[in-house]
Amino acid sequence: MKTLLIIDAQYDFLPGGNLAIPNANEIIPEINKIIKSYDIIIATRDFHPSNHKSFASQHKGCNPGDVIILNDIEQVLWPDHCIQNTYGSEITNELKADLINKIIYKGTNSEISSYSGFFDNNNTISTGLHEYLQSKCIKNLDIVGLATNYCVKHTVLDALNLGYKVNLLTSACRGIDIIPGDVEKAVIEMKNAGATIIVNSDELRT
Ligand SMILES: [Zn+2]
Repeated sequence: MKTLLIIDAQYDFLPGGNLAIPNANEIIPEINKIIKSYDIIIATRDFHPSNHKSFASQHKGCNPGDVIILNDIEQVLWPDHCIQNTYGSEITNELKADLINKIIYKGTNSEISSYSGFFDNNNTISTGLHEYLQSKCIKNLDIVGLATNYCVKHTVLDALNLGYKVNLLTSACRGIDIIPGDVEKAVIEMKNAGATIIVNSDELRT
């Protein structure tokens, strides 16, 4: 079954949002161009309680962009974003939302982030995505979304580790270069881990 996995296409990551990723809106027409060719469409939603520990506002004297140690791993601190049941946490209605078959919620535990659509950042708690894919016997994933070098990258790497065959469509992904060159580095890392990098969506439709 042809399956599309859309990562975090939510208002807070789009222009005007609390954690806007540069040019993130450009992914919407790219996704809409291909979305109808899929049998199964899954979308993830970053979905945080308001006191989430990845928010700089929860750590006295810290600012967005600072890196702290949280649960023994490095955590970049972000502006408050994708708070449960707020507008910013909603998937943009510019996507053909009625075509989405399944929504996977992540980052719901206040103590830890979940960059990956599969697991939290300690790789312990499953979001249910792997189980859902297994129940549908899905083995191939086309992955798009935000941000290339955070949630998309971690989802792709986990998918490859779990044995899925992954196409990454870069024209429908945007990243955030907090560290210059980080987006490009992430794409190379995903490619080296086994993802097929697709630059033009026309290649996917054939
Ligand atoms: Zn988040």
